[in-house]
Amino acid sequence: MRLSKFPLSTTKETPADAQVVSHQLMLRAGYIRQLGSGLYSWMPIGLRTLTRIAAIVREEMNRAGALEVLMPSVQPAELWQESGRWDKMGAEMLRFKDRHQNDFCYGPTHEEVICHHFRQDFRSYRQLPVNFYQVQTKFRDERRPRFGVMRSREFLMKDAYSFHMTADDLHREYLNMRDAYVRIFTRLGANFRPVKADSGNIGGALSEEFHILAGSGEDLLAVAEGGTYAANVEAAETLPSGKPRAAAGAAMTKVSTPGQKTCEQVSKFLEVSLSGKVKLLVVKGAEGGLIGIALRGDHQLNEIKAAKHPKIASPLTMAAPEDVLKVFGCEVGYLGPVACPIPVIADFAAAEVADFVCGANENDHHLSGVNWERDCAEPETADLRMIAEGDVSPDGIGTIKFYRGIEGGHIFQLGTKYTRAMGVTVLDADGQAVVPEMGCYGIGVTRLAAAVIEQSHDASGIIWPDAIAPFRVIICPIGSDKSPAVKDAADKLHDELAAAGIDVALDDRGNRPGSMFADAELIGIPHRIVIGDKSLATQQFEYKHRRAEKAEMIAATTAAVLER
Ligand code: ATP
Ligand code: MG
Ligand code: MG
Ligand code: MG
Repeated sequence: MRLSKFPLSTTKETPADAQVVSHQLMLRAGYIRQLGSGLYSWMPIGLRTLTRIAAIVREEMNRAGALEVLMPSVQPAELWQESGRWDKMGAEMLRFKDRHQNDFCYGPTHEEVICHHFRQDFRSYRQLPVNFYQVQTKFRDERRPRFGVMRSREFLMKDAYSFHMTADDLHREYLNMRDAYVRIFTRLGANFRPVKADSGNIGGALSEEFHILAGSGEDLLAVAEGGTYAANVEAAETLPSGKPRAAAGAAMTKVSTPGQKTCEQVSKFLEVSLSGKVKLLVVKGAEGGLIGIALRGDHQLNEIKAAKHPKIASPLTMAAPEDVLKVFGCEVGYLGPVACPIPVIADFAAAEVADFVCGANENDHHLSGVNWERDCAEPETADLRMIAEGDVSPDGIGTIKFYRGIEGGHIFQLGTKYTRAMGVTVLDADGQAVVPEMGCYGIGVTRLAAAVIEQSHDASGIIWPDAIAPFRVIICPIGSDKSPAVKDAADKLHDELAAAGIDVALDDRGNRPGSMFADAELIGIPHRIVIGDKSLATQQFEYKHRRAEKAEMIAATTAAVLER
């Protein structure tokens, strides 16, 4: 590719609204352009990388025996009503009506659709097992789209769905997919970790996430050093905490507004310490339901979601972001599964963190005079606590260390949750109708591009592994406008590399060396060849790997370049 015919749009300035380095570099290198909140276009240079990632994913899925399909992104509401998720999905699902007033959504995922197609065509155990996959656009109306394509609203996902006669066969395919994922993430050159994941409301099913380790990751991982245990903290085991502790909360007073019964009888307070740095004040209602939670400390949202505690009914769900206040590094406003109609707010009066007001709801069901040190010092009678750094691993092997990770993929044994809900059956060898077992396997294709950059960059820009670089080699001719020898050598090398199947870019834009090199480094091209009159005089090219400190001289032949 001659760059004179391949517009690049690079900038030196770091965009002010991009927080993480991958987002900054993808904008600066012209990989992506924003269209709206959580909406990004992939420009020619960026699409080359995205296409390569998708190709690796496809190759490994095909190798693992999965079959590619393509399903519509627009899905009829009826299927979601059948599975029961039309009401459960909430605001993350984008819904709309067509001209006939029929309800649709833009698919956030495709379990329902694939179940529908499966039941159209599959009747007999002889047709199973089968694993369908697609690489397709999803839309999720994320509460907080951020970090560019890392958490966007429209994104490209590889999603696969397998069907089986038995749970054992599902397990076999799950391991097959796990192996495929290990190959995919390895080929991407990523430092990754499969970790135990929360199986959410799907039941005791097996589930693992593939995380790219990076400081900017939104998830917290508990990994046993010297062992094999690894879990998303959301899914990590709780551990015995030792002796019961004293009751707390005595000094708080309840302020409630008459006529509002739901949250009136606030009775219990306890603290859950997550990773040793987060304090939660949990307010429980008289009927045992969880009413409110106030938080203090340096934490991430998934640490809060991870607040599994014997006294907390189930993983917490978050209140709306507008209910999350930030005062002195405190985020508050989380609501558990109770009959409380209004999201929780804890009200930290400025400079009064020692004696603050913790609300049960917006309308004055408050506890006043709450004091962290006094009231939230110790759990009441907690006999379990979340896993923490330095703990012995739950399996007894190794010591827990925390890492941050970016969820790049997620594999799941769904069991019969969807097939049962959607009335899917196949006949077994005895002619009996059986509800097939199902697995699902996702990879965030667009997110992976950003995740790899988070791990692989320096002050000058992106550093792509060869496998997903937009161009593998860039040729930078010096003074080719004045030297026909340089121009000829550059053209010849370009054409021969291209003929050899190498993705090569020739910077024939006539830029000065400094600006050529800066672009090549920002874009992250792994191999650079500089051709000038001086080196040609000794029949040499200058070669530099993107990671190398210094350039070196190599023979001025295509063969010598191909060796790199
Ligand atoms: P997250 O926890 O980050 O919200 P998720 O658990 O909701 O992700 P899954 O439903 O497991 O996501 O989807 C499969 C994969 O799709 C994820 O592992 C992730 O790589 C990718 N993905 C999910 N949401 C987004 C998003 N908003 N933007 C980009 N990629 C995403
Ligand atoms: Mg999500
Ligand atoms: Mg997740
Ligand atoms: Mg997931």
